[in-house]
Amino acid sequence: MATLIKEATLDRMFNDAVGKKHLKQSGQCYCCGSDVAIKIERTFRGYGFHGGVLYESNTDQFLIQCEHCFKNIGHSNHLGDAS
Ligand SMILES: [Zn+2]
Repeated sequence: MATLIKEATLDRMFNDAVGKKHLKQSGQCYCCGSDVAIKIERTFRGYGFHGGVLYESNTDQFLIQCEHCFKNIGHSNHLGDAS
């Protein structure tokens, strides 16, 4: 089962990318299959996502969801079938 990416995971990703203010992830939306480019930036409250969101599964894989699907479908139950 996949969950919205955890702050601890983002901490690790940003720690690996020393000096970067934002990270980019791209791939295909697991819902609609369209190409998505996500920008993740560190904010004073945590992290902000632009263009889409990231989920992580218990197998350490990331799933991408575009902004459109995130707003319209949200965290669907189909995520569990994707891995
Ligand atoms: Zn989508």
